[in-house]
Amino acid sequence: MKYTTKQDFLNHVNNTFKFEDEFLQAVEEVVSSIWDTVQSNPEYLKYNILDRIVVPERAFIFRVPWIDDNNNVHVNLGYRIQFNSAIGPYKGGLRFHPSVNLGILKFLAFEQIFKNSLTGLSMGGGKGGSNFDPKGKTDTEIMRFCQSFMSELSKHIGSDTDVPAGDIGVGGREIGFMFGQYKRLKNEFTGVLTGKNTKWGGSLIRPEATGYGTVYFVDEMLKTRNESLKGKIATVSGSGNVAQFACEKLIEMGAKPVTLSDSSGFIYDRDGITQEKIDFVKELKSKRSARISEYAEKYNVEYFEGKRPWSIECDIALPCATQNELDIKDAKKLLDNGCFVVAEGANMPSTKDAVELFIDKKILFGPGKAANAGGVAVSGIEMSQNSTRMPLSREKVDSLLKEIMRHIHTTCVKYGSEKGGFINYVDGANIGGFVRVADSMIDQGIV
Ligand code: NDP
Repeated sequence: MKYTTKQDFLNHVNNTFKFEDEFLQAVEEVVSSIWDTVQSNPEYLKYNILDRIVVPERAFIFRVPWIDDNNNVHVNLGYRIQFNSAIGPYKGGLRFHPSVNLGILKFLAFEQIFKNSLTGLSMGGGKGGSNFDPKGKTDTEIMRFCQSFMSELSKHIGSDTDVPAGDIGVGGREIGFMFGQYKRLKNEFTGVLTGKNTKWGGSLIRPEATGYGTVYFVDEMLKTRNESLKGKIATVSGSGNVAQFACEKLIEMGAKPVTLSDSSGFIYDRDGITQEKIDFVKELKSKRSARISEYAEKYNVEYFEGKRPWSIECDIALPCATQNELDIKDAKKLLDNGCFVVAEGANMPSTKDAVELFIDKKILFGPGKAANAGGVAVSGIEMSQNSTRMPLSREKVDSLLKEIMRHIHTTCVKYGSEKGGFINYVDGANIGGFVRVADSMIDQGIV
């Protein structure tokens, strides 16, 4: 089908996928970047890449029944979106959160296609999860839920087909329960999930990879302006996996993180968050699922109930919690306060108009599909360690992670540099990720 304008195409997508707001938001952003590239390449037009790339190869929705500790029966929805396998097996995390729905998982799976492509590794795009809320559940309830979820998911995944990982609400404990159930059902020990414990096939640096990678990406962006992380003040949102390790690396590289948040509010630690305080947060969040307000009580710092940290003065902002957590008002406040670097540790945390403002003001803005690709990159490295049955050292994985983040940055510069020298990382990441996938789709025929 031929579309005369970009809006024409977006109208068609909007009509086809009504009510999938986050997915439509993600499509609009990518299509805005790649439109000219597609129009100027007769092959992309001839093989109708645009129409094909916005439709998942398949998506599963299934029932997940489970029994709580008091013998009550519950049912949640389970999902897996297998979006695009042009460059490798589907790869992308599982999210357990009450907000999960088809539109959110499709947006995440769609983003994952281009992110995985940017890493240079062989991974297609996928995502999955459930509207199950792990908060307040006991370990045995979590185990029974994970086993039930995997009983169905196991029919659709495999180490050469689709390799899920963690995301919000899915950490090492959940991956362990799901891996155990997969092994029991299939009677095979393969790399079907990443984010595993290092004792049984996980990669060193995988838990740290997304947060560390985001900070490595920031470092690369800063170098383009002859700046470094030394002495910079950073606001960070979230207090889960990505936020914790982003803070850890910020400190190691000489910056000063001053905020952390959760869905209840944020803490502001003017003296700077230290490694000891991060260790407390790891225990607080990963083991006890407690509130970040406990940090404020323990260390006697300010706590802002129901607020986000973007009003705090900083040089660098790292949104590391969830989608659409930084809107236009937040963006204006950040800029007014002198912030000149924003890198997305989370997926699509900035709203469309916030992103447009950052680009308009020509700050260093690293979109999630580039800045947070370190997690999936090390997942790819975990897959290759599982295939060869040969674990790599911490130093080796960390140096591969750095190399991949540098490679992603170089790709963004190649495809996103504008006249006058400004680097539009959104265009750079979208076009750089797209070209490899589109060319591979053409090579493989109309499938
Ligand atoms: P975690 O579950 O470990 O932590 C999520 C954090 O975000 C928690 O602090 C949580 O607070 C907060 N949060 C969740 N939902 C909301 C909300 N609606 N409003 C405000 N805060 C919220 O997840 P991760 O750290 O793994 O993931 C964070 C982000 O990073 C997500 O966007 C994810 O997709 C992205 N990402 C993660 C990767 C990974 O390797 N883990 C890889 C690439 C991207 P609370 O405790 O109150 O729920």
